Amino acid sequence: MEYFNRLPIRKKLLLIIMLVTGGVLLFVNIAMFSYEFFTFRHVLANNLAVLTKATAENAKSTVVFSDQDAATETLLALRAEPSIRYAAILTPDQRVFAVYGKDAAGFQPPAIPVNSPVFGKNSVDFLTEIELGGKTVGLIFVRSDLHHEQILLKRYFLVALLVMGTTFFLVWIITGKLQRIFTKPIEQLAATIRGVTRDQDYSLRAPVKNKDEIGALTMGFNEMLNEIEIRDQALTLAHSDLELKVEERTRDLVLAKEAAEAASQAKSEFLANMSHEIRTPMNGVIGMTQLALQTELTDEQRDYLETIDLSASRLIQVINDILDFSKIEAHKLDITTGDFNLRETVEDTTQELAGRAHEKKLELVCHIEEDVPEFLIGDAFRLQQVLTNLLGNSIKFTESGQILLDVQLKGEYDGAVELLFSVSDQGIGIPEDKQQKIFEAFSQVDSTMARKFGGTGLGLSISSRLVHLMGGRIWLESTPNAGSTFFFTILCQKQSGEKAIPQASPAFLEGKSILVVDDNPINQKILLQKLTHLGMRARTVSGGAEALQVLQEHLDAGTPFALAIVDIQMPDMDGFTLIEKIRQHPRLTQLPVIILTSAGLPEDKERSNRLGVHAYLLKPCRHKDLLKSISTVFVRAERLEPAVETPQGEETQKTLHILLAEDNLVNQKVAQGLLKKEGHSVVVANNGLEALEKYRAEHFDVILMDVQMPEMDGFEATAKIRSLEQGTDRHIPIVALTAHAMKGYSEKCVTAGMDAYISKPIIIGEFRKILEEIPPTRTGHGS
Ligand code: ADP
Repeated sequence: MEYFNRLPIRKKLLLIIMLVTGGVLLFVNIAMFSYEFFTFRHVLANNLAVLTKATAENAKSTVVFSDQDAATETLLALRAEPSIRYAAILTPDQRVFAVYGKDAAGFQPPAIPVNSPVFGKNSVDFLTEIELGGKTVGLIFVRSDLHHEQILLKRYFLVALLVMGTTFFLVWIITGKLQRIFTKPIEQLAATIRGVTRDQDYSLRAPVKNKDEIGALTMGFNEMLNEIEIRDQALTLAHSDLELKVEERTRDLVLAKEAAEAASQAKSEFLANMSHEIRTPMNGVIGMTQLALQTELTDEQRDYLETIDLSASRLIQVINDILDFSKIEAHKLDITTGDFNLRETVEDTTQELAGRAHEKKLELVCHIEEDVPEFLIGDAFRLQQVLTNLLGNSIKFTESGQILLDVQLKGEYDGAVELLFSVSDQGIGIPEDKQQKIFEAFSQVDSTMARKFGGTGLGLSISSRLVHLMGGRIWLESTPNAGSTFFFTILCQKQSGEKAIPQASPAFLEGKSILVVDDNPINQKILLQKLTHLGMRARTVSGGAEALQVLQEHLDAGTPFALAIVDIQMPDMDGFTLIEKIRQHPRLTQLPVIILTSAGLPEDKERSNRLGVHAYLLKPCRHKDLLKSISTVFVRAERLEPAVETPQGEETQKTLHILLAEDNLVNQKVAQGLLKKEGHSVVVANNGLEALEKYRAEHFDVILMDVQMPEMDGFEATAKIRSLEQGTDRHIPIVALTAHAMKGYSEKCVTAGMDAYISKPIIIGEFRKILEEIPPTRTGHGS
């Protein structure tokens, strides 16, 4: 069937006709042949009966008279019929009386019914009675040969076959010719369809020759093609029309896009300018306030000035947020990567926020897992920004309890690490339906809250963007009235080479036993981890009474502690009371003590001095500060030189000779004031050109270089200074001072040959940090 289906219509038609013709011919021939065969037999049997009966008539007397010769003679008359093979006259009891035929001797006729021809393979037999007066006197048997008849039948069969074959052949030839009348137009139609589909040429037409149904079909098809061709042409026209329109619109769009880009550029520039314009007076406000705060003031005046200082810092924060947000909008928020120390970055951030936390009597705890690598490559500034935002929010929305910043190593992949940060608080929490929304710009859980606490609603959306740029994600878990935990991950490369090898802890700390007194179990755990890491043996207790007991036990056992680290804010017995009790103990008066405190109050410092406290650390204490304090205690102990260490941040600074290149008078005044207060000497240059002259004329330790200046800007001046240094081993540190917090500035400063970047308004703490970070070997002077 499959084969038949695949045949072309012409062959199908031919096959069907030939099958039908062949079937009909076969049927007719079989019918005719059968008819001939049976008629033949019938006639043959009749003739034989007539002949036999006639011979029986002639033989009557011979039988009656038992005249055998006469009987034989009678049978001989059958010679006239060549087909008669045998004949025999029998007595009524079936004995042969007379016989005729070739090889007839001994012939015994078969027993067959009377008057009924019996056909054999090649002969037919007939037996009849010889009657006389109604009485059977004998029988006569005749066998006729069928050979002749069979030849006739064969001939008939051959003729029939010939007729059939000829007819079949003629039908095939004629049908083959005639069917083209039907199949040709169909084939032409099919070929046209194929042409149309293959070449998509709708101009093709199938020829119409007949006016029958196929002709109608072809005409219908041609008409359809006409329609399609017309539509096709219309479509092509519409298409080119559309293309023209699209081109036109694209041109419009390009123009609109260019206009939008120009507008966005203008907006960015406006923001940069606005930022500059706002920062410059803010620089004056903050700087002068900081200077005024360092003078003799009444409590009321101090309060006013502190409020101005706080408000100005908040305003700067808002400006920074808006600037970052506009960068996000313009897809211009980017991160820059560089070497940084993760521990220091994280600890510095918590230190910066410690004051705010302590004002609200919140415990701020910072925990970095031991396996977190320290020396990484990434954007420390942006990481600090995210941490500041999250910690700032936690402090803002928490009334009591603790805030924990935890850093873990989430994964390590081929030179890169994935870090997981979490900031948890015990604050007001965030309802579930608001948890996703707060990552959107300007969204806050509760605007009345926002009014109470302040905030733009931009911090989290900026943080989320920054975290994504750093290859991570940010999410949170929170229960209203119980607290929130913000998580985020970032990817960083690990630094390689010598710089990245952590410093070994000093050998003299090895095995020293330390008592840690702190009521906060997490702080205990963190300190224990840090001290053990330094090779010391530490024991932790949760309160004053327990501390005294443990100290006594160790004295009794002859294993006194070498140092005690005491938290000041503890329930039951506070740290100072404990130290007083320690000092009253005759054997503990000389025990070195380091204090951990949340609030750096002046009266606390005094009390510490009186109690002979060795060092005074602000919580959460930085690893390097802790190490420094402990080391100092043991170095002094070895030199038998007990003395109270100056609280951190107040140690004597190196005094520097600074060249300040700045065109704005207010800024000059502020910077000069701040730097002189720090004990530095300052020479002012009003522009780049002046700066260059002064650099040539005098020796300076560092140059503070404003970027935007008349005559010659900071970049050009720096480039000139660096080219002057070429070929010498000098490299004067140049710190860029700029009001531009716009994208690309930090990179631009570095490319121009500057060593650091500080954005105005100058915060003295930041400036100190930058000076600390500049390697002393790099300082130099002009020629
Ligand atoms: P801002 O703090 O300036 O309003 P953010 O984008 O940083 O903006 O935060 C958006 C809002 O998310 C906050 O106003 C506050 O409603 C909610 N929120 C953020 N952090 C916390 C937190 N730790 N506890 C409770 N609410 C928070």
